[in-house]
Amino acid sequence: CGIVGFVSSSTPETAGHSALDVVMAGLSRLEYRGYDSAGVALVPEDGPLVSAKKAGKLTNLTEELQANPLPEAMTGIGHTRWATHGRPNDENAHPHLADEGRLAIIHNGIIENFAALKADLLDAGVEFSSETDTEVAAHQLAKNYRAVGDLTEAMRLTARELEGAFTLLAVHQDLPGRVVAARRNSPLVIGLGEGENFLGSDVAAFIDYTRKAMEIGQDEIVTITADSVNIIDIDGTAVAGEPFEVDWDT
Ligand code: GLU
Repeated sequence: CGIVGFVSSSTPETAGHSALDVVMAGLSRLEYRGYDSAGVALVPEDGPLVSAKKAGKLTNLTEELQANPLPEAMTGIGHTRWATHGRPNDENAHPHLADEGRLAIIHNGIIENFAALKADLLDAGVEFSSETDTEVAAHQLAKNYRAVGDLTEAMRLTARELEGAFTLLAVHQDLPGRVVAARRNSPLVIGLGEGENFLGSDVAAFIDYTRKAMEIGQDEIVTITADSVNIIDIDGTAVAGEPFEVDWDT
C-alpha cells in the first residue's frame, strides 16, 4: 500500500538520519492510506541484509525494532501492506526474501498470474514462506538475477513476466547503495536529494527530505544509487525522467 526506498552516500552522523529513520518517517507519512502490516529491509555496507516486519500498526514494528535493533545502514526499503493475497499476519507482511535471504522485495498491487509462476517455482524446488502473490516476484527476481548477474536487468525481465499491477522495490546484499524498482498500473515517484535519493509510492514518502522529484512512467524500471538515477523502459531503452518541484504544503 505504501512504499519507501532510500540510498545515501553519507553516514547517519553527517546526514542526520539513517536509512531506517527515513524509511520509518516515510511510512508514517503514508499511514493515511490505510494498511494492516509494515516492514523494512536494510542493506548495511559490510553486513548481511537484515529485515523486520509485523502485522498491525507501525508502532508494532517500532516496538519490534526496539526489542531487536537492526544494524545501521544507509540503504533501505519499507512497506505498509494492504493485504490482497494472504491474511494480514507477520509472515505475509513485506519485505519478502529470496536468494537465501540476500534479496528483499516489497510490492504494492496484485500479481494476476502469480499462481502459474508459483507452480513453476515449486516444481523447481523453491520454498515459500508466505501466502502472498508478492513472494512469487521475489523468487522470480532471484532466479533472473542468478541468470543474468545484474539486478536492474533481472528486474526488467521479471516485470516482463508479471501480469497485473505492481510497484516493486528490491535490494540485494551484494549491492549495498542500490535500490531497483519497477512499476505498472501502480504509482512510484523518485525523490532527488543531495548525495541521497528516494523512491516513494507518493511524494509524501520523502517530502520531509526533498521537494525535487521525478515521475516514472508506465512499465519503467528505475535504479537509484546515492548520486545517480537511471530509468529504462521495459525493452531496456534509456528514458529521460521529468523532474518537477513538489508544490505542497506539509
Ligand atoms: N498483493 C500484495 C499482498 O497481498 C500487496 C498488497 C499491497 O498493495 O499492499 O501482500
